[in-house]
Amino acid sequence: MTFAATILTLYPEMFPGPLGHAIAGRALAEGRWSLDAVNIRDFATDRHRTVDDTPAGGGAGMVLRVDILAAALDAQAQGRPVLAMTPRGKPLSQARVRQLAAGPGAIILCGRFEGFDERLFEGRDIEEVSIGDYVLSGGETAALVVLDACVRLLPGVMGAASSGVEESHESGLLEYPHYTRPQEWEGRTIPEVLRSGDHAKIAAWRQRRAEEDTRLRRPDLWERHNGARVNRPLARSDEQE
Ligand code: SAH
Repeated sequence: MTFAATILTLYPEMFPGPLGHAIAGRALAEGRWSLDAVNIRDFATDRHRTVDDTPAGGGAGMVLRVDILAAALDAQAQGRPVLAMTPRGKPLSQARVRQLAAGPGAIILCGRFEGFDERLFEGRDIEEVSIGDYVLSGGETAALVVLDACVRLLPGVMGAASSGVEESHESGLLEYPHYTRPQEWEGRTIPEVLRSGDHAKIAAWRQRRAEEDTRLRRPDLWERHNGARVNRPLARSDEQE
């Protein structure tokens, strides 16, 4: 099954953009995923192809019209999750990315200006997604982020099938740091343990660094990781032991 991505945007020429290159680009050429960038403006009804209007209640900027967006959305093949890119949305997580990548694809709405008329989210089944606590000029780069994260998880896309599972955020921890040759650079050497050939010791070092770095760099993740362990309900097999 191909992961079918449809992007609703005022700038379809921005796609596939960076996703036409490297791993994602190769997967696209191989047909492991498909991309359809649809111009929202094609669904405008007036002579000037207007898609936005001034905000009700006043204020700066323009708002994307709900009737135009709904028409654009309703014209797409259904049966896929619909995501709207917005800084007001739920922060994207690796867990959600995994779910999306395991599904049929996604329809992604890219905002511009001040964003969407709120009634769009009341009148349609739409998941509001944020890629982080900062504001972009448009949803296109956010959509590229979502797709990049999904596409690399599709079957056959990444070289080593195992390289997905140890990454940062997969286990709730940041990944351990990496090193490669040269062995010495500006007087700095690669940690001795990584050259020991002792796989158990290496695994233990990596686990310790993953935990230590998460604790120091991302206390929020560390707390959640520990909370998840402490609060995890007993599984049946544990109870019987
Ligand atoms: N007025 C809005 C911001 C609009 S930014 C607000 O303050 O909430 C214009 C568009 O960029 C948005 O509609 C959205 O599609 C996109 N965008 C901006 N920041 C984003 C983020 N952190 N995550 C996802 N999309 C974002």
